[in-house]
Amino acid sequence: VIEVVRIGQRLVRDDRVTTHVALVARAFGCSKIFMTEVNPEIKDTLEKINNTWGGDFVVEFIDNWKSIVKMKKKDSKIVHLTMYGESINEVDMQLRKEENLLIVVGAEKVPREIYELADYNVGIGNQPHSEISALAIILDRIQKGEQFKNSFPGAKRKIIPTRNGKNVLVRGTRD
Ligand code: SAM
Repeated sequence: VIEVVRIGQRLVRDDRVTTHVALVARAFGCSKIFMTEVNPEIKDTLEKINNTWGGDFVVEFIDNWKSIVKMKKKDSKIVHLTMYGESINEVDMQLRKEENLLIVVGAEKVPREIYELADYNVGIGNQPHSEISALAIILDRIQKGEQFKNSFPGAKRKIIPTRNGKNVLVRGTRD
């Protein structure tokens, strides 16, 4: 099981980024994202996506990231994504062996404590970029593309990959 927690968010400014972090978590095989409730619309957006595209990805609002991290530490390894961490190239093999992971992504400067609470501080390269890209890449490295074979049960729409144009199954019929 892979879950994600987003620490902090700049009010309003980060809504779209947070939504995209949640969309990547869902599309790349995670079951849940924990985040502080800055904008309830993010949960509605993901519910609509589940409704159309299937699956039961969960957005859970939390008051305090630290209590989630401490609680998850009992049965998961905590992976903090940070440009200061050890290279993904060094730890990806080890991460693949772990049963449960909680991946922590930041928004602005993250609290110092997370570096100590984490079992792994992982850099997707050591240049600053984005929590969306960092999350997508670590999820792909851990699952090696297998995440795209996952099914999303209950979908109203399902894409049939095609070289040209769009082929979408809509509840048994084709669009
Ligand atoms: N300046 C912030 C700091 O010092 O922590 C980083 C802000 S960055 C826009 C937001 C988040 O993106 C970080 O907390 C981290 O989770 C992720 N991130 C950005 N670049 C990364 C990298 N090279 N490797 C891993 N994660 C990265």
